[in-house]
Amino acid sequence: MEKRYIGVDLGGTNIKVGVVDPAGKLLYKTERPTRAEEGTEAVIRRITSCAREAAEAAGASWDQIAGVGVGLPGFLDIPRGVVKRLTNLPWENVPIRDLLEKAWERPVMIDNDANVAALGEAWSGAGAGVSDLVCITLGTGVGGGVIAGGRLVHGVGGAAGEIGHIRMEEGGAPCGCGQRGCLETIASATGIVRMAKEMVASGRKTALAEAARAGTLSSRDVFREMEAGDSVAREVVERATDALARAMATLSVVLNPARFIIGGGVARAGDSLFRPLREAYKKHALPSAAEGVSIVPAQLGNDAGVIGAAGLVARRGD
Ligand SMILES: [Zn+2]
Repeated sequence: MEKRYIGVDLGGTNIKVGVVDPAGKLLYKTERPTRAEEGTEAVIRRITSCAREAAEAAGASWDQIAGVGVGLPGFLDIPRGVVKRLTNLPWENVPIRDLLEKAWERPVMIDNDANVAALGEAWSGAGAGVSDLVCITLGTGVGGGVIAGGRLVHGVGGAAGEIGHIRMEEGGAPCGCGQRGCLETIASATGIVRMAKEMVASGRKTALAEAARAGTLSSRDVFREMEAGDSVAREVVERATDALARAMATLSVVLNPARFIIGGGVARAGDSLFRPLREAYKKHALPSAAEGVSIVPAQLGNDAGVIGAAGLVARRGD
């Protein structure tokens, strides 16, 4: 009877649950609304029943389930298995690991969503077979996960990999973390839109003006207009990719990873993002730390969370 692992990706909107085999292949995935407003206990009940149903739907008996990993968006005490505080969910000091272990009678491990996504990519995505990599998710914010020597890096308080909060600009835009000028305020979708809006407000002529004034501007519009030759859009993209590349160059001299894996909504811009990013990285990185380094798109998309969460338990001994 081959072992199966369950990965849970808890978000403010949806709970995603996947059943994964020992090679990191996703066998079955389901999702349902989180309904955080119904309270912590109701959400935990939904997670526990959803996992059991997913196992059944994947054709696995509960005896086959060797453990469950859970990715959570927020601040965690990972060794104790406790949620300190979540983003988009009103959870505080919830001993989630113990609660779930009791409900499932299986070992449970937790980690934050960005780390879990990095582990997913490292296990069976764009980082398969690579023991040193950095995964960066460019979405509403900028998330990061670091794998060094094949293991997720947590640091002493679990803050390792918070790449989005590397400060890139003195006195820059305010960040959700309380600092100013973090990478997240520049290289996230939100940051790209903010910079484009500022250029429009300062009177620069650009095809982005109408959407910026109407409040409908997206980072996708910025990349599209850059490709169409808009110089303001180009400046915005270059500022974002330059900041990201400088942060990556710094990470290179600390960790010397073989691969940077870039995911999230902004990475869907494809070459429009990767071309300027690779050029800027070459410019900023120490040649000996940049040699043999590749900058590649994430492969697992929305499945990285459930696969990586399952990987927390499947790859425990690695
Ligand atoms: Zn910050």
